[in-house]
This record gives sequence, C-alpha cells and structure tokens, in this order.
Amino acid sequence: MPRDAIILGAGVAGLSTAVFLQREGWKVTLLDPLGPAGGASFGNAGLLSPDTVIPAAMPGMWRKVPGWLRDPLGPLTIRPAYLPKLSPWLARWLGETRLARVEANAAALHALHAPALEVWRELLGETGFRGLMRQSGQVQLWEGSGGPGALETTLRARHGIRAEALGPDDLRQLFPGISREVTRGLLVPGNGHTVSPARAVHSLAEQVLAEGGVILPQKALKLIPREGGGWSVLANTGMHAAEALVVAGGAWSAELLAPLGIRLPLETERGYHAHLPNPSIELRVPILHKSRGFGLTPMEDGLRAAGTVEFAGLRAPPDERRAAQLAQQAKRLFPDLEFGAPRFWFGQRPSFPDSLPVVGGVPGRPGLYLCFGHGHFGMTGGPPSGRMLAGAMAGRGMPAMDALSPTRFSGAVIA
Ligand SMILES: Cc1cc2nc3c(=O)[nH]c(=O)nc-3n(C[C@H](O)[C@H](O)[C@H](O)COP(=O)(O)OP(=O)(O)OC[C@H]3O[C@@H](n4cnc5c(N)ncnc54)[C@H](O)[C@@H]3O)c2cc1C
Repeated sequence: MPRDAIILGAGVAGLSTAVFLQREGWKVTLLDPLGPAGGASFGNAGLLSPDTVIPAAMPGMWRKVPGWLRDPLGPLTIRPAYLPKLSPWLARWLGETRLARVEANAAALHALHAPALEVWRELLGETGFRGLMRQSGQVQLWEGSGGPGALETTLRARHGIRAEALGPDDLRQLFPGISREVTRGLLVPGNGHTVSPARAVHSLAEQVLAEGGVILPQKALKLIPREGGGWSVLANTGMHAAEALVVAGGAWSAELLAPLGIRLPLETERGYHAHLPNPSIELRVPILHKSRGFGLTPMEDGLRAAGTVEFAGLRAPPDERRAAQLAQQAKRLFPDLEFGAPRFWFGQRPSFPDSLPVVGGVPGRPGLYLCFGHGHFGMTGGPPSGRMLAGAMAGRGMPAMDALSPTRFSGAVIA
C-alpha cells in the first residue's frame, strides 16, 4: 500500500511538497479553495534568490521605521487599528535584530536558498526550467546616500556570495533612461527570476495531476487526529483522511493550527503588484529597489512592479492605492516608461519574525507536518522546503531542517 498524505494549500510550498512526495511513492490529495496558485504564489515579484541571505530584521533597522510609517503609501505601513494585535510579533522581530540572531538567520537562509534554482530544475525538468526561469542576476538599487550596510557585505562574503558594486555610470549603461535619483547599485549575479510565477506553480499542479494526485477546490475547516494514527480533515464540502497531513496554507496556516493548541508567531506581510503590459522599455535584469521596497521584474507578458509591506491582518480589505502607487514608482524609476492599462493585485506573505519558514513534523503530533512561513522568499525557499520535507517524511535525516523547526520560538505553544 502506498503511503498517503493530505496537503492543505496549493501554493508553491504545498505543490512542491506534493511533487516530491509523489516521487517518494506517496499518494497525495491537495485541498485549496482557490485552486493552484490562488494565494501569494500567484502575483509575487518572481525573484529567485539563491544568493539572498539577508533577513528582514537587521540591527538598527527600527530607526528607519518611523520615516516609513509617515507615508501611508510608502514601502512599509501599519494600519493603526492593527498595531495592538501586531505588537507581540513586532517585539519578536526586534529580538531578531540582535547580531547573533542575524548571523544564525542568515546561515539558515543560505542553507535553504542556495539550492533553489537546482531544485526548480529538478521540479520542472530542463525544458520546463528553460521556459520559465532566467539565471539573469538581480540588481539592488538605492537613492541618495543609501547602500548596502557593512553587516550585509560581511554576511554575503561569509557565505561566498558574489556581488558587484555599481556606480551611476554602470547603472545608466545597464538601465538606459533610469532616474538620476538612483545613485548606487549592487549586482548579485547568482540570483535570477521567473517570467511567470503563476505558470511556474501551475506546472507543478499539472505534474501532481499527471502522477495521479488529486487537487480539490475545498477549504479545510478542522484538522482531527484519528484514533490509532493518521489525520482527518473536515472541509467545506467533504471529509478526508490520510496517514499524514501537511499544512502548507501560507498566511492562513496559523489559524488552521490554533484549534489544535499549536500557536506560532505567523503574521501576514501584505503586498501588492502593478502589472504593466506592453512596456516601452526592455529590462534585461530584474531590479530590487531597496530605497522604495519593491521589485521590477521583466515577465513574459509585461513588467511587474511588486512589493511593499502593509500590516493590517488577514481580513482587512486591500488598499488599491498601494497597488496604483507601484505603477507610479516604476514611472519614477524610469521617467520615460510607457505601458498599457496596469493590472493590480494584492497578496499575503506568510512571515515569521526571523524570516525563516517552519518545515518539519510537529513534536508530539505524529503524522502532522508543517511547510509555511516563507515570507518574502517563498518562490525561492518553497521548492527546497518541499524537497526537504518529503525526504524527512520518507524517513531520511534532513539536518538543514533543524533551524526551521516549529519549536524554535520561545513561548510558542505546542500543546
Ligand atoms: C507582493 C509580493 C511579492 C513577492 N515577491 C517575491 C519574490 O520576488 N520572490 C520570492 O521568492 N517570494 C516573493 N514573495 C513571497 C512568496 O510569494 C510567498 O512566500 C509564497 O508564495 C508563499 O507560498 P505558500 O505556498 O506558502 O502560500 P500561498 O501561495 O499563499 O498558498 C497558500 C494556499 O493555501 C490556501 N489555503 C488557505 N486556507 C486554506 C484552507 N483552510 N484549506 C485549504 N487551503 C487553504 C490558500 O488558498 C492558498 O492558495 C512575494 C510575496 C508578495 C505578496
């Protein structure tokens, strides 16, 4: 009898896990009310960053926060009514800005991210990979006196990551027409991007179906441990049972687990995109604008400006002005840029305070596995997480997963 698993969530994390579990001989059923790539995996900036090791929480970062908060359409905003609910997560985030924590988080990000392109190639096969992925490098940009901090440079060097400083002339050569507001850049040649995050994730879903997996448009409502082993899931239009249960529900995962007494400090960092069809410029390398908190990525059907962070919880309606602002930011970066009618999107990043996901089993809950919390880097870290989790579920030791254990949060309850 093949082993069987129910996976909650058909984003990049759940589908990567599903494909690798099938390769281990498991039978998988995925539940997702939105279908494949209906969450954050649909509209992200598509940056693939094996050479990204810098966590969001860095020393001294809090000093920049008041300036950001003054601009409601800026790179970071907190809706005032949500601040009391957010405070415990922010306190943990501040704790992660200590040097020892930053160093540990960077090492864990390196271990998780480094194989990302290789794992995407394993998932998609050579032809699929070439059609969807570009090993283009990425360029980070700053305005005014901004630039990479000394600690960032140290961390990159420690992990053997190549990066090349770019001055105004280099930038103008690489990006003709770029605004003179931009003063510095950093080329990270080992990074890349996808020309369509949605198509990449749909390719995973097609593989799952082709290998006999099942993807049902259902919402899990309750997770129930079965007497004698295994798990049942009560969904809105069905009941399912399997030996193993994988929670890969992105930003919604914590509320699925809370009734089991499992409380993890997961927050949603809401983000937006403005997709710009028929752009008048061709971007050879994707951009990460560090001073303004967004990415600008060349995709198969236009340019995508995506990013910024809004803390307002899972249920607050989107603020469409933030998406429209991203189109303005793209224009500000390239003043001569013209494009067709932009398409706007809003999504929820599942984020822990240390920028790392949880990947692995839950102690004391045999058969229950977690794979969520990839924050800003899920297109990068999701596939390696799925490969590791499937390996662990098949009984192989996966040492890199120790740093991703759900037990790492002090005071987090796993009852
Ligand atoms: C604006 C923006 C830009 C980004 N840019 C990048 C980038 O450039 N590079 C990068 O690596 N990452 C980026 N990210 C992050 C990346 O998109 C996420 O980390 C990643 O998509 C998370 O994948 P996931 O599968 O965990 O979650 P999701 O894709 O959100 O999938 C979770 C799924 O769970 C389902 N679900 C929820 N509740 C239930 C339930 N009760 N039952 C069943 N299913 C349920 C949802 O419907 C959803 O489809 C960005 C994110 C945003 C928002």
